[in-house]
Amino acid sequence: MLWLTILAVFASLIGASYARVEQVTLTESFISYPGYSCYLLSRFFPNNQVHFPSSPPYTDAQSAYWSSQQSFIAPGCRFTPHGVQDVQLAVNHLLLTNTSFAIASGGHSSNNGASNIDAGVTIDLSRLDEVTIAEEGNAVWLGPGARWSDIYAKLEESGLAVSGGRVGHVGVGGYVLGGGFSWFANELGWTCDQVLEYEIVTPARQILQVSATENEDLFWALKGSLGAFGVVTRIKMPTVRIGNVFGGALTYRQEHVVDVFAALQALAMKAREDLYSQAYVSFGWVQLHKRHGTSAYLMNTAGDRSSAALAKLTSIPHVASSLRNMTLGESAREITDSNPLGFRRTKFTLTASSTEEAMHIVHDAYLRTTASTRFGPDDMLGVTMQPLTLPHLLKGRNIFSLRGEKSPLLLLSAEFWWSDRAYDEMYEEAARALHDAWGAELQAKGLLHSWLYPNYAASWQRPFEEPSIPQGAQEALESVRQKHDPEDVWRQLVPGIWHV
Ligand SMILES: Cc1cc2nc3c(=O)[nH]c(=O)nc-3n(C[C@H](O)[C@H](O)[C@H](O)COP(=O)(O)OP(=O)(O)OC[C@H]3O[C@@H](n4cnc5c(N)ncnc54)[C@H](O)[C@@H]3O)c2cc1C
Repeated sequence: MLWLTILAVFASLIGASYARVEQVTLTESFISYPGYSCYLLSRFFPNNQVHFPSSPPYTDAQSAYWSSQQSFIAPGCRFTPHGVQDVQLAVNHLLLTNTSFAIASGGHSSNNGASNIDAGVTIDLSRLDEVTIAEEGNAVWLGPGARWSDIYAKLEESGLAVSGGRVGHVGVGGYVLGGGFSWFANELGWTCDQVLEYEIVTPARQILQVSATENEDLFWALKGSLGAFGVVTRIKMPTVRIGNVFGGALTYRQEHVVDVFAALQALAMKAREDLYSQAYVSFGWVQLHKRHGTSAYLMNTAGDRSSAALAKLTSIPHVASSLRNMTLGESAREITDSNPLGFRRTKFTLTASSTEEAMHIVHDAYLRTTASTRFGPDDMLGVTMQPLTLPHLLKGRNIFSLRGEKSPLLLLSAEFWWSDRAYDEMYEEAARALHDAWGAELQAKGLLHSWLYPNYAASWQRPFEEPSIPQGAQEALESVRQKHDPEDVWRQLVPGIWHV
């Protein structure tokens, strides 16, 4: 009976204009039926833009997520728009048919359901991958589905770069909309601080150009809020003129962590003396090798091999080095190679005051976690510590409200990688326990900061709420949301993301 009714509904709608779709009275269970919604979408986009389960474009895209939990989420179909009008039409359709959906650019969120959706529609922006140099090389338009390695390769041909991701296969969309921590952060701030213009399809189904002089409220709100305000279809950024950079990874023995932390702290404190130099430190447990690894990735964007700012890190005895002059794109590819797809993952973030004491608290809790966790044979835990320097924080206008900081912060992230879904619960619990230990121990020493970086936050963290952002910023975001999404439809139909 149900099927007959659905077929009747299909028959009445095939070839219909959206004006007609609106006139049809459908019960809620029909209109939210994803197969029906996908079928209709495929009628409006007959040219290989709506992909159904088992088709090669569907399975290829499903396997390209960073976390394999997202790969196993099964949307009723994946829709690949070719331009902003396609996105507008699709959003209109999804809202009218009350269909839940997700938005994917590079698929590098570690959060289950952030960019894929079970039994809904995934708007897959991978074909919106333009890299269009504009304004005589001073700016570039980027599609949200472009990957940083492709962008750097294209810009390098003209001696240009852009303040973008450090890892090649990350997508533009989530990275820029969530903030964006680039190798140019000391010079230019967050990547989102640099954005000159966005093109967006809002929940009110409007296509808007958003800049410092047009839709200014959204221009601020889009800087750090990921997908809370609509589907962003183009982003314009200023370019950077660049030659070769100097960078690479140094691998240290465990016994040198004290020196490594001291060197990282010195780099954080002296950022103003050399805005071109930056580094992050990672340590991790690799069950396959049954040992801890400690490394630093160093970068001088001016290509200076003898940067005094990096000398402390390079002078610590190390067991391996890939330091060299190279292009930014080569560096992004190098880091990509050490970040393979295909693992199950869980990740979280915290922020601390940048001090050596904070680094040791973080490291000690990590050691306790690795000692007490029964890792599977392929599994890993990685921790990364990245100084957020004052020149970085004091730039730009974004939703983070970190401009008043008086000393550098330390951005922390931890991620478990594993293969067997039987371990899901264990690693989720281990991640929570490590989070709680860091939080409590940093708090006890007065070193915990309340801000949460959206691009690293776990789905159970709340980056757009107090205390991560102050009450005033939260209220301002809500008022922008009320203006552009008065019926709060995004919250109802895009379930996998944080809303404001
Ligand atoms: C290996 C690796 C390296 C990383 N390196 C860095 C780094 O150097 N610096 C840094 O700051 N971060 C880094 N990150 C974090 C990364 O920036 C975030 O995970 C980012 O959100 C990924 O963007 P994406 O488009 O690839 O992912 P997606 O999973 O496609 O998107 C992430 C979120 O943004 C939303 N979204 C994406 N595009 C749009 C759009 N166009 N309109 C509306 N909403 C959208 C999605 O719905 C989703 O909720 C890294 C992550 C990984 C896994």
